Amino acid sequence: MTKNGSLILVINCGSSSLKFALFPAGDKTPLMSGLAECLGETDARITAKIGGDKKTETLNGQGHAAALDVLLRVLAEHDWLNSVKAVGHRMVHGGEAFKASVVVTDEILKVIEAHNHLAPLHNPANLLGIRTALAKMPKIPQVVVFDTAFHQTMPPAAYLYAVPMELYRDHGVRRYGFHGTSHRYVAEETIRLLSLNPKDHGLVIAHLGNGGSATAVLNGKSVDTTMGMTPLEGLVMGTRSGDVDPGALVHLGRNAGWDINTMDTVLNKKSGLLGISELSNDMRAIESAAAEGHDGAKKALDVFVHRLARHIGGLATSLPRLDAVVFTGGIGENSSTVRKMTVERLRVFGMVLDEAANEATIRGKSGVISKGKGPLAVVVPTNEEWMIARDAAELAGLTGV
Ligand code: AMP
Repeated sequence: MTKNGSLILVINCGSSSLKFALFPAGDKTPLMSGLAECLGETDARITAKIGGDKKTETLNGQGHAAALDVLLRVLAEHDWLNSVKAVGHRMVHGGEAFKASVVVTDEILKVIEAHNHLAPLHNPANLLGIRTALAKMPKIPQVVVFDTAFHQTMPPAAYLYAVPMELYRDHGVRRYGFHGTSHRYVAEETIRLLSLNPKDHGLVIAHLGNGGSATAVLNGKSVDTTMGMTPLEGLVMGTRSGDVDPGALVHLGRNAGWDINTMDTVLNKKSGLLGISELSNDMRAIESAAAEGHDGAKKALDVFVHRLARHIGGLATSLPRLDAVVFTGGIGENSSTVRKMTVERLRVFGMVLDEAANEATIRGKSGVISKGKGPLAVVVPTNEEWMIARDAAELAGLTGV
């Protein structure tokens, strides 16, 4: 079944959810995947997908520990439990302390905890997942994979904000970047797909999902990215604003009585595609409404593409040469409309869309969607879970991965 019989469990724990996937070592297709959601609420439930089979069971209002109990029971029922040799956990923020994935120890947990203030919604939930898994599987190595780690190669010119340096020194105010696991995976896949020299290439990768960020990759390393100290900076997202003049917030604080919580909620949950369209945060809904002439949806799509093209152009200036712009994430992998509109804006680089290839490269396909002599436009589906599994397998010393 597997190259060496080992299985790797991947856990992505949120405050009321727990996503999971089970990979055979060295295999990108999970044997099982699923989601526990509404944890701690009355309708707490867990759904596991195995092959074409999907089963949901109630958790009767219980939390993460109960979800993991069900998961371990399902693993045991399929005779997989004893083959699980490593667990990989997603962690949103590793600050400047983590430049790569690590095996969990008591010391590592303390260092991660010391970064909770940088991602107060995400890190404590991710840590809860690690602690729960450690309690249930104390003998299995647990590995943490950080969203921020890939971007730790950014130079100060890219990561510093032009604010007093004491804000950086005393409060960690700098750009960290996120989606690093996806950008790292997609960079590797693109190098393979285009037969690029691993030590001599320049890419801009646009990860466009519910959250979105674009990254300049020079010779396998992140040199600039659009997300900042938090995942709010940069591109237009489903419900997040991306770049906004901080002066606008000062204005709203002074003149409209906005407090910190209002700013946080509006910019993170009520902005982006949803805020502009006043219709939906979902790109599929935006595209079909725009096609039927909905004014808000058309504006949302235009602002989304304008911001994306502008950032891709900006990121390219961190590279000596642009080999390819790579689209990934739910929107990047499936929306031929967004890709077409964006590539048209990149004509300044000499990029020309191949219409037929663009229409055909959807639903998990990868390939080149441009033609001519300019930099390539490429679609490469991401696989963050597998990247976490691969890091976990490597750090747990499993062979055959
Ligand atoms: P993700 O967070 O990577 O799952 O991406 C979610 C986003 O991808 C949502 O905005 C979806 O509307 C969008 N998406 C998925 N499929 C399509 C599609 N066929 N066309 C346009 N957008 C899509």
